[in-house]
Amino acid sequence: MKVLKGISVAPGIAIGKAKIIKQKRLEIKKRDIEKQQVQEEINKLERVLEEVIKDTDNLIDEYSVNKANQEIFDSHKMILQDPEMKEEVVKLMHENLIGLEQAIHQHFSKVAAYFESLDNDFFAQKAIDYTDVSHRILNILIGRKGFKQNRFNREDIPIFYTTTPSQIIHLAREGVKGFYLEKGSETSHNAIIARSFDLTCIVGIPDLFTQIENNDLIILDGDQGKIIINPEPEILKQYREKLTKLNKHKEDLLSLIEVTPNKILDKRINLQINIEVPEEIVHTATLAPDGIGLFRTEFLFMDKDTLPTEEEQFKIYKDMAEKMGNKPVIIRTFDLGGDKFSNIVTYAKEENPFLGNRGLRFSLSHPNIFRTQINAILRASIYGKIKIMFPMVMGVSDYRKAKTFVKKVMSNLINKGYEVDENIEIGVMIEIPSAAICSEQLAQEVDFFSIGTNDLIQYTLSVDRTNEMLSDYYIPHHPAVLNLIKITADSANKYNIPISVCGAMASVPKYIPLLIALGISTFSIAPSAYLDVKKRVLDLQDKDVIELQNFNLFTDSDSIEKIIRKVTP
Ligand code: PEP
Ligand code: MG
Repeated sequence: MKVLKGISVAPGIAIGKAKIIKQKRLEIKKRDIEKQQVQEEINKLERVLEEVIKDTDNLIDEYSVNKANQEIFDSHKMILQDPEMKEEVVKLMHENLIGLEQAIHQHFSKVAAYFESLDNDFFAQKAIDYTDVSHRILNILIGRKGFKQNRFNREDIPIFYTTTPSQIIHLAREGVKGFYLEKGSETSHNAIIARSFDLTCIVGIPDLFTQIENNDLIILDGDQGKIIINPEPEILKQYREKLTKLNKHKEDLLSLIEVTPNKILDKRINLQINIEVPEEIVHTATLAPDGIGLFRTEFLFMDKDTLPTEEEQFKIYKDMAEKMGNKPVIIRTFDLGGDKFSNIVTYAKEENPFLGNRGLRFSLSHPNIFRTQINAILRASIYGKIKIMFPMVMGVSDYRKAKTFVKKVMSNLINKGYEVDENIEIGVMIEIPSAAICSEQLAQEVDFFSIGTNDLIQYTLSVDRTNEMLSDYYIPHHPAVLNLIKITADSANKYNIPISVCGAMASVPKYIPLLIALGISTFSIAPSAYLDVKKRVLDLQDKDVIELQNFNLFTDSDSIEKIIRKVTP
C-alpha cells in the first residue's frame, strides 16, 4: 500500500482501477496497394488537399482579425499548395506502393524532423506548422475522432498527465467517478467541469506516474487530497463505509430541494446554478434553483468539431429559457482564451493568455462569432427571462462597445422581422480588479453585476489559477479580494442593481456568511455543491453574519480564516 499526497480540486471519494491515459499518438496502419491503385490514391490526395485548403480559407475569413493569425493560415496554405510536397507524396506511393495516409505521414514527418534538427526558433515553428497540417489531412483520411473513441466503465480511474474539459465530459458520460490529473488547480476549467459532473479529482503528485500501474486498485480521497494505491483490506473497508455514508449524505440533502431559502437580515437569499454544458439543465431543473446565474457558453465550442451555428445555439438558449420558465437565465457570451481554448478556433500564440485576447476582448475581435451568438441569444430572448452577461470587462468603455454591438445586432434582427426582448438586461462580470475599482461608474450603466471570484482572485493576487504549485497563495479570503468584493457590492447597492457571486467562492459553504456580510444575497453555485450551500444558508442565523460584519475583515488572511472557521466550524 502506498499513500501519496496531492491536492484535491474536486471533492468526494472514488474507488476503482487505475487506467493510465497516454497522449494518443496518431496511428497510421500499413496499407499496401497495387500499381494500378496509385492513380486512385492520387485522386484522393487531390480531394483531401482541396478540402483542407477550403477549410483554411474559411479560417482565414472567419478568424484572421490580426496579422499574426493571417500569417499562420497563409503558411498552412502554402504548405498545402506546395507542388514539391505533392510530387514527393506521389513518388513515395509509386516507389513503395503504400497507401496515401502512410505516404503523407512519412513525408511530413521527415520534413518536420529536418526543421526540428536545425535548432532554430523560426524552423521549430515551421516544424509545428508541418505537423499541424499533416494531422489535419490525416484526421480526414483515417476518420479519427480522438479521445471520444475511448471506452470507460464506472470502475475506471483515469490517470492523466493533461486533459481537456471535453474529455472530462466524456468521462462523466461514461459513468467514471473520479480521475487524477498531473497538472491543474481548483479553479482551472478542468476542475470546474469535474465538480459540475460530480467527479472526484486529485492533482499534483510528483512522480505518480512512476509509482502506479494500470489496474492497480486505487482510492481517490478528494476530501483529504490523497491517493491510496493498493490499499490494505482494512483501509479499503473504511473507505467503502465512508463512500456509503457520503452517498447517504447526498441523498439526505435531496430533502432540502423543496424548502424555500430563508431570509437573512431581512433579505431573501437567492440560490442559482452555474451551467457548463446544456445537458446539465435537466439535472439542474430538479434542484429547483432560483435561476441559472451563469451559463458558460464557451463550452459549446469545446465538445464539437465545428462552430455551433446560430440555429444550434438558438435551440439551446430557447430550451434553457423555456425550462426555467419565469426564472432568470444569464447567458455569458463566449469566454474563450486563458485556459479555455477551442480546437476549432485558431489562436495566435500569446505569452500570457490569461492577460491576452480573452473573454469580451476575444468576442470583440471576432465579430462574426460574436454576432452569431448575439443573434441566437436575442432570438431566444422571447421564450423566457434571458439576460446577457459579458466576461472580462475592464471598465465602462469596453462595456459600451459591447452594448453598442448588441443594440446594432438587435436592430438588424428587428428589421428582418424577428421578435426580440428589446429590454433584455445586459450585465457584466466583475472579475478584473479594474472593473471592481470602477464599479461605481459601471453600476450607473449596466443592468447587473456578477462577481467572478476565480479570476478576481487570480488577477488581484497575481496567482495563476491553474498552477497547482501556487495553491497556498490562492487565498479567496485575502483582504484585498474582500475589499474589492465590498466596493463592488456597495456600488451595486448604491445604484440599486442586482449583484451576485458566480465564482467558485459561492460554491463553498463556509464563504457564504462572509459574502452575505459583504452585501451579497444572490449566489450562483456549481450543481454538485448546490444543496450543501443551501444547507448552510438554511442553518445560518442573523447573529453569525452580524459577527462577521463587526469583525475588521481588512486585516490579514490568517485572522479572517479564524473568524470564518468560528462561524462555520
Ligand atoms: C470566475 O472567473 O469566477 C468565473 C465565474 O468565470 P470562469 O471561471 O469561467 O473564468
Ligand atoms: Mg472568469
